[in-house]
Amino acid sequence: MPIRIATGGIAQETNTFQWEPTTLADFSRGSSGIERGEGIMRLRGTGTIYGGIIAEAEANGVELIPTLYAHAVPGGRVSREAYEAFCAEILDGFRRALPVDGVLLGIHGAMALEHGPDGEGPLIAQIRELVGPDVPIVAPLDLHTNLSEEMMAGANAFVGYKEYPHIDMPETGAHAMRLLLAVIRGEARPTMVHARLPLIAPNQSMVTTWQSPLKEAIDRAREMERAPGVLAATVLGGFPFADIPFAGLATIVVTDDDPALARRLADELAALCWARRERFTIRPTPIADAIAEALAGAPGSVYVLADIADSGASGTAGDGTAILRGLLDAGARSAAIAQIMDREAVAACVAAGIGATITLSVGGKHDGLHGEPVAVTGMVRLIHEGGFAIGGAMGRGTRASRGKTVVLEIDGPGGIELQLTELRGHPSDLNHFRAFGIEPTERRILVLKSAAHFRAAFEPIATKVIEVDAPGISSPDLRRFPYKDLRRPIYPLDPETTWP
Ligand SMILES: [Zn+2]
Repeated sequence: MPIRIATGGIAQETNTFQWEPTTLADFSRGSSGIERGEGIMRLRGTGTIYGGIIAEAEANGVELIPTLYAHAVPGGRVSREAYEAFCAEILDGFRRALPVDGVLLGIHGAMALEHGPDGEGPLIAQIRELVGPDVPIVAPLDLHTNLSEEMMAGANAFVGYKEYPHIDMPETGAHAMRLLLAVIRGEARPTMVHARLPLIAPNQSMVTTWQSPLKEAIDRAREMERAPGVLAATVLGGFPFADIPFAGLATIVVTDDDPALARRLADELAALCWARRERFTIRPTPIADAIAEALAGAPGSVYVLADIADSGASGTAGDGTAILRGLLDAGARSAAIAQIMDREAVAACVAAGIGATITLSVGGKHDGLHGEPVAVTGMVRLIHEGGFAIGGAMGRGTRASRGKTVVLEIDGPGGIELQLTELRGHPSDLNHFRAFGIEPTERRILVLKSAAHFRAAFEPIATKVIEVDAPGISSPDLRRFPYKDLRRPIYPLDPETTWP
């Protein structure tokens, strides 16, 4: 009889400074999706956690029982209606699947709810209640997980991503599945221990394409995983744009029945991060300086100006205008912007039609935290339904969509190509330009609303990446955020914080 493993979950990263909740409808818009039953199995071979989970299950002759996997692009708190509907459907699927040998969850780790700070903990608790104490529950976790005590209490093992951009999602899914199989086969008895630091850090300090402070700790975690008896070692950077008590850095180590070793290693990883706490500070470049540097670059240069404070992957407004304003003020040319979310502007361009020249006010309308609306005049060069294939490592084999998309050409050919979209974007792939007729390697300036995920695809083509200091709710300057529920004291908001 094959090993039977039930799988499903809810994955969303919540920016609690985003006023607009993530509703049931949002889970089926744009790049979000609700996969049911065999729909989950269609993620076979993709650059997602399920790419790895399914491959490992099939290689081991496991009977994987897919229930529901609901995933939404980062945004505001998940509505009670959506959360409760998904939980009920997942639990129902698991109930019908019983008896099972194990549970492999498809969760993110930083979901907050309209009615509570923790989405994952209560879901895991309900699953534990259903399957009983003896069925192992294992999950891969996003590097930005805000780890709760309830998550720790309900699961047997977590394995976190080690790369940001998250190019290792399939690998982490496969690792989680291998760990679960070892437990089911009686080859391992997982003991999981975590350590929590009074430390909150901006996403940009967690990037692993350079020796960021978080990467240094992750390198040590990788080393730990090569030692006998260590099943998984994880450093979670946390997601700082969540005003919840348990946001921030944490470490998790899973050993084979050796609680003392797990404790020692989890504490060692935490100490590595704590020793580097000052280096988690990010100092982005003022907008005008970044633009001037790019315009002064050698012919053929490609400068990425990363709008890290309005990152589509961090649940911001997606309609920040400060860099566009700067480009217009500087008279910049050969600049392409991915993208500004503005449904009204898209509708106006569609009504005007391809080839029409139109004057309108774009962006800055969602929450007043991402710059003012900017008046532009341009020619509607392209109207696109918005869907396109992801070609790079992150999310390969999946499709992205930002809803209906318009390319507005400002200042004629070779001027500023502004993409206006109906939904928030997450420009992590070269196809965010190429699908819309813009060749990114041939533009002097690429403006990307992305905190870090853009790096996997764009660092290889960029002469230089400049993180720009614009306003927004994924700014690395955490002192700008009105935290109320976050535990205190916490570094760097309270500089005198001590640990342990
Ligand atoms: Zn993440």
